[in-house]
Amino acid sequence: MDIEFDRQHIWHPYTSALNPLPCYGVQRTEGVHIHLESGEALIDGMSSWWSTIHGYNHPALTQAAHAQIAQMPHVMFGGLTHEPAINLCKALLDIAPQGLNRVFLADSGSVAVEVAMKMALQYWACQGNQSKHKFVTLRNGYHGDTFNAMSVCDPVTGMHSLFKQVLSQQHFAPAPQTRFDQLWNEDDVQPLAELLERHHHEVAALILEPVVQGAGGMRIYHANYLRRARQLCDQYNVLLIADEIATGFGRTGKMFACEHADISPDILCVGKALTGGMMTLAATLCSEDVAVGVCQGQPGVFMHGPTFMGNPLACAVANASLSILQQGHWQSQVASIEAQLKAQLLPLNKLASVADTRVLGAIGVVECKAPVDVASFQRRCISRGIWVRPFGKLVYIMPPYIINEAQLSQLVEGITFALMD
Ligand SMILES: *Cc1c(COP(=O)(O)O)cnc(C)c1O
Repeated sequence: MDIEFDRQHIWHPYTSALNPLPCYGVQRTEGVHIHLESGEALIDGMSSWWSTIHGYNHPALTQAAHAQIAQMPHVMFGGLTHEPAINLCKALLDIAPQGLNRVFLADSGSVAVEVAMKMALQYWACQGNQSKHKFVTLRNGYHGDTFNAMSVCDPVTGMHSLFKQVLSQQHFAPAPQTRFDQLWNEDDVQPLAELLERHHHEVAALILEPVVQGAGGMRIYHANYLRRARQLCDQYNVLLIADEIATGFGRTGKMFACEHADISPDILCVGKALTGGMMTLAATLCSEDVAVGVCQGQPGVFMHGPTFMGNPLACAVANASLSILQQGHWQSQVASIEAQLKAQLLPLNKLASVADTRVLGAIGVVECKAPVDVASFQRRCISRGIWVRPFGKLVYIMPPYIINEAQLSQLVEGITFALMD
C-alpha cells in the first residue's frame, strides 16, 4: 500500500496535511475485526464511528447490496421512486418516536442536520414569521461539519473563533449537569428556560443530542432535562430537533435516546448506523404539522434535493440493517455490553490519569485529566489488538453490538494498558 502517497496527497478527518498522525493501512474487515496490512487483527472499539453496529461484512447486508447493485444501483429521486426507499421509510416510521410521519432521505449526517434546520426556518417563514430565524442549542454539542451544523456545535471545541465572520450566531445554553443516573435537579434546566423566555420570539428551534452528547464531549445527561426541554419548546412555540445521528438504532439501550424521556421531537435526524455502517445515508424525519407548515404558502415546496437522494443501493442496505434490528437481539446485546462496561470500565476512574468514567448502553467513556497523546496511545492499543481513537481528553468506545464477552474484556484491558503509559 502506498502509504507515502497517502501522507503526501490525501486529507484525513481532522488531520494536518503537513504533519499528519500515523495512518494505518487496512486490508480487510470481518465481524468486529479490522485487519491491518501489517498483519494485526484489531478489535474495533469505535464501530467505525458509531456505524457498524452488526459488525463488518454482515452477510445480510452484503447480500442486500449485491442484489440491489445488480438490479438498480441508482436512479434519480425527482419524479421517480422505488421499493428500497419506500420500504426503508416505512420501517423508519415504524420504529421512530410517535408523531413523526414524513421522511427526507439525505446523503450524510451533516446534510440531515442542514435539512432539519432549513425545515425549521422554512416552517416559520412560510407562516409569515420571518423573525424566528435563530437556533438554541447546548454547549458541548456536536451536529456536523457543514456551516449551519457548525453554528450549533460547541463554540470552543468547534473552533468558532476561526469562522466567526461567517457563522450564524446562535444561542447557547450550558451543557446539562445532572448525570443520567443522578438524582434530578430542577435547577439544571433553568438556564435553558431563561434563554427561551428571553429569545423565543426569534428562535425557530432547539436542536440537541438527546441524553448523550457525542463528539462535543461524550457527556451523558439526565432524561428529565430532555423532558423539560420538550415542555419548554411547547410552552414557547419553538420546534424541537433531536439529533440522533450517533444515539439512534439502539446504541443507548433504547431504539432512540428520546425514549429514555418518553418524548417525541418535531424533527429527528438519523445517520451513522442507518446502513449498519456499510455506506453513507441519513434521514430527517418530521411531524405532519412541520410538513404542512413548510409546504403551505410560497414557494409551496421544501427547498432541498440532493442528487443522490434516496440512493437505492444505500436504502436496500439500510433495510437489511433495520431487519436485523427488528429481530430484537440488539436489546440483550446492548444490555450485556452495558453490564460488562459497568463492571470493567467504570473502575478505571481509579487510575491516576483518569478524571471520570461513564457508561450508557453500548457506550463507554474514560475522561482523562490531560489530553491523550493519540499517536502513542494508538501504538499501545494496536500492540494489544484493539482499535480506539481518542480525542482531546476523551478515550471512548462504542463497539459493534455483536462483540462477545472475551473481545470486550480484551478491549477494556487494552485501554487500561494504553492508559498506564
Ligand atoms: C457524526 C454526527 C453528525 C454528522 O454526521 P456526518 O455523517 O459525519 O456528516 C451530526 N450529528 C451527530 C450527533 C453526529 O454524531
